[in-house]
Amino acid sequence: MMERDLLICISGPSGVGKGTLVKELTRDDPNLVLSVSCTTRAPRKGERDGVEYFFISREEFERGIEAGDFIEYDEHFGNYYGTLRSYVEGQLALHRSVILEIDVVGSLAVKKQMENVVTVFIAPPSAEALESRLKGRGSESEEQLAMRRARVEYEFSKSKEYDYVVVNDDLESALGELRSLIQKEKTILR
Ligand code: 5GP
Repeated sequence: MMERDLLICISGPSGVGKGTLVKELTRDDPNLVLSVSCTTRAPRKGERDGVEYFFISREEFERGIEAGDFIEYDEHFGNYYGTLRSYVEGQLALHRSVILEIDVVGSLAVKKQMENVVTVFIAPPSAEALESRLKGRGSESEEQLAMRRARVEYEFSKSKEYDYVVVNDDLESALGELRSLIQKEKTILR
């Protein structure tokens, strides 16, 4: 059967475990890759340029905006984040599906502009679980945490606009749900 290559936008509040889910999803599927975004924020401990993000300066980012290098971009927490058109189109040309781990605004913008887009919102089992994961990461100042908390509410209000909502209460079951929705969407020809 013919399958379509998808652009899978995965969003959800900070600390919900998107990163782990995406790593697991792409680990043993060579036809499913993660898009590496550009950002102007500083790398966190252990993050490498070209792996988690391409870390670039504000000037470079603004030149990229002018040149139309981004499918979408957004500014939050005082930094720019954007999806590189060349990266995504390059992967699609190789018949790979691409996961975009981007925020709510970005996902909805991609959905409007591109074809074969599936949007998935990852929700925490409870507000308490999210708070403890966020704090457990230990990489943010109180001020940064407060900004992220405020953002969570906004993101939740937008979750209704997603094609799917997956609750991440158990890694294996969330992964199972994601794998099966991806497989189902690949075989739906629109
Ligand atoms: P973090 O700083 O925790 O890596 O990411 C902060 C937020 O930026 C997250 O919600 C993440 O999904 C979002 N983000 C990461 N890359 C992009 C991107 O390319 N575009 C948009 N719009 N958001 C992004």
